[in-house]
Amino acid sequence: MHPSSPRQNAIDAVTNYQGPVAALDGIEAPDVIFGSNVFNNATMKARLPQDVWEALQATIERSATLDRSVADAVAVAMKDWAIERGATHYAHVFYPLTGLTAEKHDSFLGVDGEGNAIIEFSGKALIQGEPDASSFPNGGLRETFEARGYTGWDVTSPSYIIENPSGNTLCIPTVFVSYTGDALDKKTPLLRSQQVLDTQARRVLALFGHDNPDHVTTFVGAEQEYFLIDRHFFLARPDLISSGRTLFGARPPKGQEFEDHYFGAIPERVLAFMYETERELWKLGIPAKTRHNEVAPGQFEIAPVFERANLANDHQQLLMATLRRVAAKHGMECMLHEKPFEGVNGSGKHVNFSFGNGVQGNLLNPGDTPHENAQFLVFCAAVIRAVGRHAGLLRSVVASAANDHRLGANEAPPAIISVFLGEQLMDVFDQIAKGGATESMGKGTLKIGVDTLPTLHSDPGDRNRTSPLAFTGNRFEFRAPGSSQSIAGPMVAINTAVAESLDYIATEIAAMLDSGTGLNDAVQNVLQAIVMDHGNVIFNGDSYSPEWKVEAESRGLPNLLTTPEALAEMDSPSSRELFAHYGVLSHRELHSRFEVYMHRYSLSITVEARSTLEIARTLLLPAATRYLGELASIATDLLKLGRRSDSPTLDLVANAVDDLSSAASDLAQLLETDSLDASIESARFCCQSLIPAMNAVRAAADLLEDNVADDLWPLPTYQEMLFIL
Ligand code: ADP
Ligand code: MG
Repeated sequence: MHPSSPRQNAIDAVTNYQGPVAALDGIEAPDVIFGSNVFNNATMKARLPQDVWEALQATIERSATLDRSVADAVAVAMKDWAIERGATHYAHVFYPLTGLTAEKHDSFLGVDGEGNAIIEFSGKALIQGEPDASSFPNGGLRETFEARGYTGWDVTSPSYIIENPSGNTLCIPTVFVSYTGDALDKKTPLLRSQQVLDTQARRVLALFGHDNPDHVTTFVGAEQEYFLIDRHFFLARPDLISSGRTLFGARPPKGQEFEDHYFGAIPERVLAFMYETERELWKLGIPAKTRHNEVAPGQFEIAPVFERANLANDHQQLLMATLRRVAAKHGMECMLHEKPFEGVNGSGKHVNFSFGNGVQGNLLNPGDTPHENAQFLVFCAAVIRAVGRHAGLLRSVVASAANDHRLGANEAPPAIISVFLGEQLMDVFDQIAKGGATESMGKGTLKIGVDTLPTLHSDPGDRNRTSPLAFTGNRFEFRAPGSSQSIAGPMVAINTAVAESLDYIATEIAAMLDSGTGLNDAVQNVLQAIVMDHGNVIFNGDSYSPEWKVEAESRGLPNLLTTPEALAEMDSPSSRELFAHYGVLSHRELHSRFEVYMHRYSLSITVEARSTLEIARTLLLPAATRYLGELASIATDLLKLGRRSDSPTLDLVANAVDDLSSAASDLAQLLETDSLDASIESARFCCQSLIPAMNAVRAAADLLEDNVADDLWPLPTYQEMLFIL
């Protein structure tokens, strides 16, 4: 390899890498640093006047309207707290449809009438901000010339301080809405869907005799998978820089077939990164808990303890940013893309969720009494019905160009959305379908309200890892979301669809009670109806198997393999009706999302296609052609010497160079015809024309990588990236 080639430089740099010297002295215990940078309940209680604190709690816990004088008082306390911690600026943080986190920073500095500096931060500045909204995707909701968008303080998510060696910033989580009040972000519908779920869940709880049941929230714990590679390799791969995944790369001799990475000892350098990441997360009040190696080489996972959905969402966004920031400090790139490397596992974000409150507890926990069990079955059935009615929608909320590489590949749940219940619970629902309230038929027949459910244990060994949505003992785990995605989209869909089913269940049971049916019979009837109507989404078998695809089709379950198909379900009549009916997203808002995501899909594929072309033409073809030249001159020399007349390597390389060059021309031609917009036609063009053309370029290039002299190959290889840390 040429000593100054970027690849050789990267290898040298990695070989000589020296990690930051860790100093364990002065490192505080987790419980001491936890939340130290958060303006949390304890801090507020200590710093706010009693009446202000109580008013704020009423808003946080019970959505009471926030009084302006309360906001002013909170602003003063928050500012003092932040300034004591070295903050000079504050930022409204919001979550636009890009799926990323956006921030608008302002300093606390003001000037009085005489030009003197003053520190100011009013209730108004806390409550509302006005970032220029024109550059955020809005799907036609707002013309760019009316660029007004407003951020509004989300009282339910605490403010926190982000530290930087050069200064600290007070961050205030906010919603982001347009001038006309339309949601432009991912938080607004999440908060709305939370309220809808609460209302319907409490109706059901009331029927079970809980008078004045406590507010119900969704609890979410997201397991985040990611890859780490040395940053020198990352920077020597233009494809990783532009699109987050390798657009080229031959399979390494060793991949993940030895299954030696999963739960293996964590490499020291990675462990150093994990310690620092977790400490940073703890300071921000993010309860980082679990860490381990994942299946693929270079792949890892972090999971915090579950929290209320809205907080879990904000924390998830912060967690992704923290992973990337700390990795860079340790000379590594943290890759959150769903499929950075072909041929090894991709990364998901398993979203665990349950519903509950402080008084009735976790509503997805099978209870100890028949009464509790009946209630548990109702909430479980609400999830089954929600998935049955909105399988397409649930597929659409995890659709992205990147996640398409994962779903349906043999290491991730398929694109078919089904529910895994486990044998015991499945058996219970089978009996309900058969009319469980009739005479006992021996072992295990369940009579709602009379028998107690067998203990359902959440034994991890017994878990189905192939299902997109699995019941795991006291919660469901939605495994289809991708590693880079915001959890807000999936949770908005789940909350709203489950609320719709709880609404149905409450209405049905109430009507039966009115006409004199007893509660147990009413519950049995409604559960039976749900299993009869939606039992087809329950699947306990191996979701990776080819047989399931065939069976799912015969059950009428959609198998939407690509984003253009899947996204169409987001704007379908049933999705529109669902969101509009419960006031979570109006038709306009929903359609704008559909357009933004469709456009993002086309943009992602176009960027990949351009990057593929550029790398092929400026890096790979030149390398391969040089090698071809060497081979050709050697062949000529040998021929002159009368040694050989044929050269299989020369033929192979010559053919692959021709293939690469003509595949690149085909791709270039397709890119010239592009005038891509947010339409489904553009997305289909990307999916059906650009992707196959890119694949053809890659196939020729990967063959060359396996045959061109290694010292000429310009890109770091899979082996180097995945195994040298
Ligand atoms: P596994 O990999 O075995 O599925 P992990 O421990 O990696 O489990 O992650 C499980 C996630 O589920 C964690 O974030 C955990 O806090 C969360 N979780 C546990 N119980 C609940 C619950 N009742 N509701 C929501 N999330 C939960
Ligand atoms: Mg896990």
